[in-house]
Amino acid sequence: MNDIVSLDIESGIGILTIDSPPVNALGINVRRALDNNFKALAADERVQAIVLLCAGRTFFAGADITEFGKPMESPQLPDVFETIEAAGKPVIAAIHGTALGGGLETALVCHFRIAVPSAKLGLPEVNLGLLPGAGGTQRLPRIVGVEVALEMMTSGRPISAKDALANGVIDALANDGKLREDAVAFARKIVDERRPAVRVRDLETMIETARGRPEIFAAFRQKNARAFRGFKAPDAIIKCVEAAVNLPFDEGIAVERAQFMTLMASTESAAQRYVFFAERETSKIPDVPPTTPTLPIAKAGVIGAGTMGGGITMNFLNAGIPVTLCEMSQEALDRGLGVIRKNYENSAAKGKLTPAQVEQRLGLITPALGLDALHDVDLVIEAVFEEMSVKKDIFGKLDAIVKPGAILASNTSYLDIDEIAAATSRPEWVMGLHFFSPANVMRLLEVVRGKETKLDLIATGMKLAKSIGKTPVLSRVCHGFIANRIMTVRGVQANALVLEGPTPAEIDKVVYDYGFAMGQFQMMDLVGLDVIGRGINERTVNGDLVKRDRLGQKKNGGYYDYDASRNPTPSPVAAALIADFAAYKGIENHGPQSADEILARLNYVIVNEGAKILEEGIALRASDIDMACILGYGWPVYTGGPMFWGDTVGLPKIVAKLKEYQAKYGETFKPAALLEKLADEGKSFTRG
Ligand code: NAD
Repeated sequence: MNDIVSLDIESGIGILTIDSPPVNALGINVRRALDNNFKALAADERVQAIVLLCAGRTFFAGADITEFGKPMESPQLPDVFETIEAAGKPVIAAIHGTALGGGLETALVCHFRIAVPSAKLGLPEVNLGLLPGAGGTQRLPRIVGVEVALEMMTSGRPISAKDALANGVIDALANDGKLREDAVAFARKIVDERRPAVRVRDLETMIETARGRPEIFAAFRQKNARAFRGFKAPDAIIKCVEAAVNLPFDEGIAVERAQFMTLMASTESAAQRYVFFAERETSKIPDVPPTTPTLPIAKAGVIGAGTMGGGITMNFLNAGIPVTLCEMSQEALDRGLGVIRKNYENSAAKGKLTPAQVEQRLGLITPALGLDALHDVDLVIEAVFEEMSVKKDIFGKLDAIVKPGAILASNTSYLDIDEIAAATSRPEWVMGLHFFSPANVMRLLEVVRGKETKLDLIATGMKLAKSIGKTPVLSRVCHGFIANRIMTVRGVQANALVLEGPTPAEIDKVVYDYGFAMGQFQMMDLVGLDVIGRGINERTVNGDLVKRDRLGQKKNGGYYDYDASRNPTPSPVAAALIADFAAYKGIENHGPQSADEILARLNYVIVNEGAKILEEGIALRASDIDMACILGYGWPVYTGGPMFWGDTVGLPKIVAKLKEYQAKYGETFKPAALLEKLADEGKSFTRG
């Protein structure tokens, strides 16, 4: 244990350095080391003040996540904190790297904090559906006040050392590379000036102003209502800060503990912790070990400067990779370039980019007509119309133009990558790279593996995703791959259900209340009913609406009517068209259904489709399906995604309901063999 501690005394200042690679996580060994050494330093008469430092790349980066879900060995963090507070002499936390979660809470127990300018400080527990459970909710407001504390803890976003100095989280900035010397000098000054070592728990000034003023907390809740919707942790954090303001410290700590335990036991937090690990799992591919060579992407090509091509191009520009952008006509090219420029200028207007950065990024584009300019790129991504004949034609041409050893990728949403690959003489160099709209924003990248795709390409796709800020999910070839395939079944059920009684608004409310940003019909109205209905020949409600020139939000409304501010109200015209279509199909109206019934109808088929995707080997693991839905479709994180949610509901319940639907509506609802097997064996998709 001693090998993680070094202890020096310099001119009356005890310097305790913890060295527990890789990130000085607050595991049991570190906790013991802190507890023992603080006790020793407190008793050592030579020591007038104590500097707490970490060796290696960072200050305590947080809890030891390998201890999650296990009984915590003593001393626990609050025990260690009591020891630090009882030292009876000033303690100075000297911070570099990242002081996150329990790491920052450790610093908050100290009497003073000093950090190098590159340090980042934050309490990100909210992202795991938790709250800072070692006194952070009680101490931070006493240092920075209610507003800053609420903001930091409910957003989970780390702040820079500069901001931390400005709002009082830290007391001084150290010089880069001189943290130890500067911290010791700071400690010496404290001692020389005889500044009292007031414990943070005893500070009152910053919280007094909010005492007995519940309206401050109500306003904060209201301001963030949209962002907090469905999550349990933000509200628990607010309650803790209210307690910090209105109750004695120890009672506040008791509130924090109770809230923490409630969160820890909640499905929402379990889901968020699952998602945290699931996101890190997606790049583990059994037959593509980390040693698989990757190909350098120094120059990319994008074909098609439409909705997707433009967004895809921006991803590369943002990462500093030059792009040759090809179109069929000058007009289409100019339009595409114009949209990219406008997007960047909007970012600049919000202060996210400087005008020089806008020009620098745009300068990385080489616009081109035709495909010949792609001869020297390392990767081509095709994003032209979704038509097999067009794609095959392009890939055939690329085969003759693009240099050997370059990756040929398609952004197709539904088409067969193997058929596209067969249009070339090098199918092993072809893969799918499926972005989600808007491609410069959505974090999912489906890396689609064709029958012959080389392993190097898969490894490169996974790596590329990360370098452009995406999370990759590997998919084999099928109609719609993972995310689109799974979400399509919900659309089919919504369209069927609306003929049986529930209105678009009733169905949408269920989807919204589940946690999506909008309902199925609102989403269709937003995308445009003409776009959604493209290529469909049989009669549909959608098509009937388009025939009445109701194209959605953009023209005359669709399933809803819209006012000037785009607020939807149920449309009598749509209701009449739905009734007419139901009569044409001979479907009887049985009136409204309960929210539970609607949710089961829409979501159980998704769980079932996920099971099929797994048994067909399209996705490697259930958690990849969850990540695809969360990152590609905004599936609410606190449900854990469809598969985790299915496990929460209980697979036997889902199977029973699907069988009921199967008897009533037909084979679409037949439970997948894997789903039935897991249900029979009392197993689950995501919890063993
Ligand atoms: P789009 O119609 O907005 O853009 C397609 C562009 O390709 C047009 O600008 C067109 O001029 C250009 N083009 C067509 N043939 C060409 C050729 N031979 N050479 C050069 N340029 C050519 O379409 P989109 O929505 O960007 O979709 C593109 C692809 O991405 C499709 O395969 C689609 O399925 C897929 N996709 C779309 C979305 C989405 O939400 N829109 C999401 C994921 C994937």
